[in-house]
Amino acid sequence: MEPVRNYINGAFVDAVSGQTLDTVNPATNTVITAVPRSQAVDVKHATEAAKAAATAWGATTMVERIAWLERIADALEAEAETIAQLESLDTGKPISLARRVDAARSVANFRFFADHAKGHQDPTFSDHGAVNHVHRSPVGVVGLITPWNLPLYLLSWKVAPALLMGNTIVAKPSELTPLTADFLAKTVHALGLPAGVFNLVHGYGPEVGQAIVEHPDIRGISFTGGTATGRLVAATAAPMFKKLSLELGGKNATVVLDDAPLDDIMEGLVRASFTNSGQVCLCGSRILVDETIYDTFAEKFIAKVEELRLGDPQDEATQMGTVISQDHKAKVESYIRLGIEEGGTVLTGGLSELAPVPGVPSDGAFLRPTVLAGLSASCRTATEEIFGPVVTLHSFASEDEAVEMANLTEYGLAGSVWTADIERGHAFAKRMETGIVWVNTWLNRDLRTPFGGVKQSGVGREGGDWSMAFFSEMTNVCIQQP
Ligand code: NAP
Repeated sequence: MEPVRNYINGAFVDAVSGQTLDTVNPATNTVITAVPRSQAVDVKHATEAAKAAATAWGATTMVERIAWLERIADALEAEAETIAQLESLDTGKPISLARRVDAARSVANFRFFADHAKGHQDPTFSDHGAVNHVHRSPVGVVGLITPWNLPLYLLSWKVAPALLMGNTIVAKPSELTPLTADFLAKTVHALGLPAGVFNLVHGYGPEVGQAIVEHPDIRGISFTGGTATGRLVAATAAPMFKKLSLELGGKNATVVLDDAPLDDIMEGLVRASFTNSGQVCLCGSRILVDETIYDTFAEKFIAKVEELRLGDPQDEATQMGTVISQDHKAKVESYIRLGIEEGGTVLTGGLSELAPVPGVPSDGAFLRPTVLAGLSASCRTATEEIFGPVVTLHSFASEDEAVEMANLTEYGLAGSVWTADIERGHAFAKRMETGIVWVNTWLNRDLRTPFGGVKQSGVGREGGDWSMAFFSEMTNVCIQQP
């Protein structure tokens, strides 16, 4: 594959230093291609280009920008299969998942924000004979920093509203998954998006990401990634009074109440636990089950987990591929070891040396879906984010205890409740300290709704009006009749 290059001021360029790093296919542990290892100077060039383009882009009308989003959506949709193939290659996720989730949602993000803006009207308020008009301007140059688990899905979730509201962009994808961000750059280039409106700088987080956060001309930062990195981003950006949106880690609880119809929900629970090898920030990694149904639940759940088809991500039948890298596999396995040290029992899966995945390359980052039981709900394995195919099972004696266990961690991103009684599920959901709770479903996303976390899972909300608000500055113009 051709080396990936930065996209700055409408041109594909190498890092100023000429340095590169490799992006690796985690299923085979082989190099896919070289990627620029950029530095602050590359971010400086990208920011200068974005700043130079900001006035003209900000002066385009909303109608013109909606048309741009629609053009980008159409162009991506025409290449949905390419997007899915690139994403599967770069992440090790099954091709079927990459089609259904990554490619489809990347297109949908552009289409959604175009449609959403069509119905949008800024409010006016009348009082004391005066009329207040809310006027929106772009923030200016914004920095978009995204992780490796859903590469184009999450980048497009930020690029679409940023463009829509008239901002120009300096973006950095994870250095582990640069291919679809590069594809987006090629797409907007081919469409003739004005130079400097969208800039992409590849490289390591502490080098490129940090330089974006530090640059004084980048006025807003939308960051999705881990909580520890988010803390660094906040520490750098807050004293500069930048607009800041932080979408961070989670340790989400899946709560199964005693009346849950186990046979009907089991597939949903396995999906909530192991989609994308558990590498979705919204995956439920702690399953809390009423003690009266715990044994039956555990038996049915393990049987369903063991039906998952693991293997070559390129195989159409594969349901679970690899984790993102050998390093990440080592991190996930360290948590399986910790779980055992903390007194847990492996009910299925486990360390790859003991439970290898047959028929896959030995140095691929494959791991079996792993279920641990017998752990305290407050131990490290059950409270720290593992971000891999590992879930812990716990039982509770009452709903109050379940609420306490669900709210035990420092995180508060998402959760789900499973019950035959919708009122009961709704009441339980409101007691969970999270940004999102699903009742009898998971990853069911209406893009108009607020998305984000509480506690250490983030600051701010994305989605629909919230994204439009983040990517704009509001001026209230109060007009009094003379
Ligand atoms: P990460 O290590 O925090 O990295 C996220 C992004 O930040 C990457 O592009 C990374 O670059 C960059 N980065 C690293 N250090 C930086 C710094 N000092 N300044 C600025 N940027 C920096 O997270 P990850 O491992 O890629 O992703 C997994 C995490 O993301 C999990 O915690 C998961 O829960 C979270 N996540 C949250 C959401 C949500 O919506 N709340 C969604 C998806 C994922 P490099 O990759 O080059 O280091």
